[in-house]
Amino acid sequence: MTGALQGSGDDGGAAARCGICGALAAGPCAGCRQPVCADCCVLTEGGAGTWAVCLACERRGGASLRRAWLGLLAWIGVPVLLLAGVAAAIWAALR
Ligand SMILES: [Zn+2]
Ligand SMILES: [Zn+2]
Repeated sequence: MTGALQGSGDDGGAAARCGICGALAAGPCAGCRQPVCADCCVLTEGGAGTWAVCLACERRGGASLRRAWLGLLAWIGVPVLLLAGVAAAIWAALR
């Protein structure tokens, strides 16, 4: 055992390095799988949980993910508004 580790003075030589700033990575990006540190990633809430996404992927895909959520909200909100309009029309007709 002794001597085998000599020469590799780099702490955590097998540990992944952040692909953006070069610091020790905290984990892989959910989008491009490159290792990123805690400072270079943002937590994005997806369907099944929270994902760490690097800044490049956040700039590329985070906005579209947010737009998808807005689309889902609109998809729910428009029928609700239509139903409210129909209910108001019926209420006005019954008076
Ligand atoms: Zn970093
Ligand atoms: Zn990424």
